[in-house]
Amino acid sequence: MMSYSKGFFLILILFMFLCKSIFSDMILVSKEEVSEIPMNFLNFAKKGEIFEWMVGIRRKIHENPELGYEEFETSKLIREELDKMGIEYKYPVAVTGVVGFIGSGKPPLVALRADMDALSLQEMVEWEHKSKNPGKMHACGHDTHVAMLLGAAKILQEHRNLLKGTVVLVFQPAEEGGGGAKKMVEAGALENVEAIFGLHSSTFSPLGEVTSRSGPMLAGSGFFEAVISGKGGHAAIPQHSIDPILAASNVIVSLQHLISREADPLDSQVLTVAKFQGGGAFNVIPDSVTIGGTFRAFSKESLQQLKQRIEEVIVAQATVQRCNATVTFETKDRLFFPPTVNDKDLHKLFERVAGDMLGTDKVKEMQLLMGSEDFSFYQEKIPGYLFFVGMKDETLEHPVSAHSPYFRINEAALPFGAALHASLVVRYFSDNQAGSPMHDGYHHDEL
Ligand SMILES: [Zn+2]
Ligand SMILES: [Zn+2]
Repeated sequence: MMSYSKGFFLILILFMFLCKSIFSDMILVSKEEVSEIPMNFLNFAKKGEIFEWMVGIRRKIHENPELGYEEFETSKLIREELDKMGIEYKYPVAVTGVVGFIGSGKPPLVALRADMDALSLQEMVEWEHKSKNPGKMHACGHDTHVAMLLGAAKILQEHRNLLKGTVVLVFQPAEEGGGGAKKMVEAGALENVEAIFGLHSSTFSPLGEVTSRSGPMLAGSGFFEAVISGKGGHAAIPQHSIDPILAASNVIVSLQHLISREADPLDSQVLTVAKFQGGGAFNVIPDSVTIGGTFRAFSKESLQQLKQRIEEVIVAQATVQRCNATVTFETKDRLFFPPTVNDKDLHKLFERVAGDMLGTDKVKEMQLLMGSEDFSFYQEKIPGYLFFVGMKDETLEHPVSAHSPYFRINEAALPFGAALHASLVVRYFSDNQAGSPMHDGYHHDEL
């Protein structure tokens, strides 16, 4: 009796084990297939009609650039395309933002982000699709970011049977200083989302190459403005005035010592006074001078330290020349951006996906950059990963950097960005299905 029941129990366990492995095979794509997905997606995105559709979207947005929180037409175009693909979305999120959903509707939720805004800049490139809005231009490639995320949406929607989770498409407003990402987070765009990927165009890397790094990548940034007040008067009788121009000049020189004498030389920081306004005549000492600038660092602690010392130095140094000074920092239009810090597990995932698609020699380590990205607001909440996609225009003798009125990109890069976006989420889902969740709670990489 005992041995019969033991035997039955063994058979039951064996049966359950078999069932489980058959079931697992059904829901899991094999390792080889997973590594082929990035290449398959790239070939899909390169197909004539899909490539041309993405190029068309990019050119349409390029012709009609809109500034932060004014991306109404861009947002409308995105929603029309999502409608055509049968993708559901929320709108408006943070004024013009759109949040779309593809997949099972179940966890895990992974987000892909594109920024939509242009810059206050007059385009100087003469071509068929030049900006039609005077003084506005897509000179940071955000038009390509939207086209690539829509491309990814198309790939994912066509392959939604591969999705073991939900992809959240985040189209955000106002990256260029307006902190659109912060507003998207506040509006709940990351609700239940456990990781986010973002990309940026790079006009210095060639087609088919990507760059990124683990840990801190882009600096955090802050802005300051100070009004230094003295007493105006005749420029030839200075003893009756208190000269704020001389005081401001000394303030600027003293500020330079914060980096050269107080900061750790191995902790990269920048402090630039970029604004100096005061006086309007050759023979009048003005009442006051306004100075302003930006400061950058790779850790919140260093940013905080700089902020405190900037205020102390301006106020104290102005006093030396009998002036008063008031300093302001963060305002509605001048937000502090945290440093962009890439999650190390997502970095490993990115290296595998990009390596499978482009070859490991095309996945380059990025140098630290003192520029800032508001993608960092997402990374403050959940693990996030930002990478750069090579879009160098080979017809130019020297590449032109972002924010230049001569900015040009190679549209042949659009399929790469779209396919990378799509492959990253599919790989994320498959890694998590394998029973190895990437995160058991989030904490930033050590700075
Ligand atoms: Zn920019
Ligand atoms: Zn940008």
